[in-house]
Amino acid sequence: EAITVQELANRMAERGADLVKALFKMGMPVTVNQTIDQDTAELLVTEFGHNIRRIAESDIEIGVVGDADAEADLQPRPPVVTIMGHVDHGKTSLLDALRGTDVVAGEAGGITQHIGAYQVTLKSGDKITLLDTPGHEAFTEMRARGANITDIVVLVVAADDGLMPQTIEAINHTKAAGVPMIVAINKIDKPGANPQKIREVLLQYDVQVEQMGGDVQDVEVSALKKLGLDDLTDKILLQAELLELKANPERPAEGTVVEAKLDKGRGPVATVLVGRGTLRVGDIFVVGAESGKVRALIDDKGRQVKEAGPSVPVEVLGLSGVPGAGDPLSVVESEARAREVAAYRQSVAQRKRTTQAPANLETMFSALKANAVKEFPLVIKADVQGSVEAIVSAVNKISTDEIRARVLHSGVGGITESDVTLAAASKAPIIGFGVRANAKAREIANRDGVALKYYDIIYDLIDEIRAAMAGQLGPEL
Ligand code: GDP
Repeated sequence: EAITVQELANRMAERGADLVKALFKMGMPVTVNQTIDQDTAELLVTEFGHNIRRIAESDIEIGVVGDADAEADLQPRPPVVTIMGHVDHGKTSLLDALRGTDVVAGEAGGITQHIGAYQVTLKSGDKITLLDTPGHEAFTEMRARGANITDIVVLVVAADDGLMPQTIEAINHTKAAGVPMIVAINKIDKPGANPQKIREVLLQYDVQVEQMGGDVQDVEVSALKKLGLDDLTDKILLQAELLELKANPERPAEGTVVEAKLDKGRGPVATVLVGRGTLRVGDIFVVGAESGKVRALIDDKGRQVKEAGPSVPVEVLGLSGVPGAGDPLSVVESEARAREVAAYRQSVAQRKRTTQAPANLETMFSALKANAVKEFPLVIKADVQGSVEAIVSAVNKISTDEIRARVLHSGVGGITESDVTLAAASKAPIIGFGVRANAKAREIANRDGVALKYYDIIYDLIDEIRAAMAGQLGPEL
């Protein structure tokens, strides 16, 4: 069984750099992200004075997430879509309108349940899964937790309003995640609607829709008047086809928690989006630091179902406690094993809470260095638009052939929760020029180890970033 140096370091509660050093002395020049074999790992463990049982104990996790599936076992699966956009541009209305296109809902007599995600079956028989929490905060929060469940983002822009701050944030969050986007130009029923203007303004943000010669699909809709919905679903399906979304339905299920709560009558309940395999009543599972046995599965129409396959969202009953959104669920072979893994994860989480050091620019950068990333992600917030532009252009100028600054997001105003979740997901520091983080943002930054750096003089800011970038490349510069 191979393990990365960093993982082993975590399990031994040692610093990755110390392990690298020891390995170097043993004649093995590796980085923290490289894997080493079992024998070398054991050697290291002894070298550091730990006994072998200690890793054996935490080897608990091995095998919880199954191996990759054979190509022949893969079946097409429905796309998972998140709707983003500025407030009041019609995200919720569009989610409702799309829900209304479901041909199964009425006939089955089910009643719409808001469980965090739903699936529609179109007239053609094709299915689309929609995440019910619109907006980019939830999307990026999930991504920060390693849960990339969205296949396609639908960006809603109101044709009578244009690109607004949250539209731009949504574009940047989508790009940072590398998820394809479809632009839904909404409210075309309104007298002041000007879809062409939207297409033009999008160019300024590097979103080039098909009509402007690019490859981003766009569609004119009215969520209110239910216009253009077929066109939108067609485009979602086309994009899904390009992505060749597939999963093996015939295996123990793995999925992701979309939302979870403690229900008065039913106990802990989690909505799980199945990623691969099929989740069945009676299955034993571990989910985050909780475990359980599926007592019942309830779909988005409130009906009890016996099983849920890839891309299907279901409420799961029978959990030991409430997991977090973004937590992975895996079906395992026995209750003893489920409890063992859950207990192990609880102890890891406990240890993390008590030992996480506050982040600073340097540790953030050295983490990047260890990853050998030659891209330098940044989030930039400033007091006025002129400063934002000056900083972004200066930062772009200090990029070299070897290392390139990548501004994930920039904007006017204080540092918010949304900025921090975006930065955390990409392990980027946040640069505040003449602005500070609000209390909530500071709290999350602290929790997730995001560096917040404040400046009042552009020269200082550029100087420090340049130095950090050079430092990241090592002494050969
Ligand atoms: P959200 O904040 O992005 O979720 O936006 P909502 O879905 O709540 O919509 C905001 C407002 O815009 C509501 O009053 C909706 O009725 C209205 N609205 C949404 N879509 C349309 C549309 O296509 N046409 C018109 N005229 N109004 C719309």
